[in-house]
Amino acid sequence: MLLTITTTHQPATDLGYLLVKNPARVQEFELSFGKAVVFYPEASEECCTAALLLEVDPVGLVRGRQGPAGEGRQLEQYVNDRPYVASSFMSVALAAVFRTALSGKSKERPELAEAAIPLEATLTALPCRGGEGFLRRLFEPLGYRLDLQRLPLDSQHPEWGSSPYFTVTLAAECRLCDLLTHLYVLVPVLDQDKHYWVGEDEVEKLLRFGEGWLNAHPEKKEITRRYLQRRPSLIRQALARLAAEDTGADEEETSNPDRLEAQMETQIDASASAPGATGEDKPRSLNDQRLEAVLAALRESGARRVLDLGCGEGRLLERLMRQNCFQEIVGLDVSYRAMEIAQRRLHLDRASDRQRERVRLLHGALTYRDRRLEGFDAAAVVEVIEHLDLPRLAAFERVLFECARPGVVVLSTPNAEYNVRWPSLPAGRFRHRDHRFEWSRSEFQTWAEAVAGRFGYTVQFSPIGPIDPEVGSPTQMAVFTRST
Ligand code: SAH
Repeated sequence: MLLTITTTHQPATDLGYLLVKNPARVQEFELSFGKAVVFYPEASEECCTAALLLEVDPVGLVRGRQGPAGEGRQLEQYVNDRPYVASSFMSVALAAVFRTALSGKSKERPELAEAAIPLEATLTALPCRGGEGFLRRLFEPLGYRLDLQRLPLDSQHPEWGSSPYFTVTLAAECRLCDLLTHLYVLVPVLDQDKHYWVGEDEVEKLLRFGEGWLNAHPEKKEITRRYLQRRPSLIRQALARLAAEDTGADEEETSNPDRLEAQMETQIDASASAPGATGEDKPRSLNDQRLEAVLAALRESGARRVLDLGCGEGRLLERLMRQNCFQEIVGLDVSYRAMEIAQRRLHLDRASDRQRERVRLLHGALTYRDRRLEGFDAAAVVEVIEHLDLPRLAAFERVLFECARPGVVVLSTPNAEYNVRWPSLPAGRFRHRDHRFEWSRSEFQTWAEAVAGRFGYTVQFSPIGPIDPEVGSPTQMAVFTRST
């Protein structure tokens, strides 16, 4: 079994510091099931590749073992794929041989360990129970570009067809510890086998290594099921804990960010100075005003293909659908539950083929690069950023402004200064339980201007809702326009 990890981040030989393995030496490690060898087929300033070669000893594994598995499956013990393929043995080897790198630490290059760098990992034989589609569904939402080659069952006998094994190359700009962690968890998930007894500590391991990405992964359930070898009690335990530590994304409450605002809305004289107020009898809710302001900005941009990122229950999508100028409309959210509600709201199950082609819902997370989001004219991000943990905001910025890179981004977030105008909101409290932060106007503008500057956009700000002379409007909106 061979795993190679390559970087072109210069000086590329710094990879040796991150892995704590000297590129000039071949090193061997004895493991309980065989031997791991680390060496560098290439180590130059421009490009450096570290290789982990694993020699699993299948005979040594069963020698001395007793019981049913030791008797009934004699042949299988000697003739199996374990020595050749990436499996749970590889995860154990990764944890043993690259322990420091896996933990994201580096004594010699601490900043580099924290940095997203160009990385490529190749697994020569990855068993993939679930086919190419599943392989893609596991890695693509995490931001990897995949290069796959399905291996034949026997190259001497092409008529026997293909094997379940792939040679896989994963490429991304990410931290080395992210790459190693994803491999650590997902290789045994693909293999669907483990060489050791799966008990409760496996739940801990999954949650520990899944931290920061598993909860938002569209295949979270299947990953959990397979990682825990389909043991129902463990799966229930893991999923319950994931749900508890969830951003609340699967809670009904999250998909209705305005619940508190809605309760407070009677206190807003919406028709007072709202932009575009029409003087109708019934004052429009803040939510309506917000969606209309976003819709107006999208229309004004001339966009035809639009994204609604963090689309929630699909309130903006519903409005976008009514406008013929939008030819392709894609909503994305991390909450499956919210998307089910969106699906019903938009009647997508009953829609014509044309409409179904025009409007699509994607399950995904905004903190991981997603190729499906590339090539759009505009993106709306309405009341979403305040749901992201501040340390993950930088990842979101890159996913949106560097990778997806739409021509226009219309983004809204609460204006924290306005909170004092809501007597029912205790001082210092956020408007929603799942909000990780709420920004003042100057905080939002400083952030938005820095993002615009960094990624080649210009930005303009508008208030949404009634404007208070002291504290501004309840919602603030930024419209970013790509300038380079
Ligand atoms: N834009 C919608 C919903 C806003 S609520 C509206 O204005 O009505 C915030 C939404 O962001 C929720 O639906 C939540 O599931 C989603 N969300 C939170 N974190 C996310 C992430 N990392 N990736 C994608 N969506 C996310």
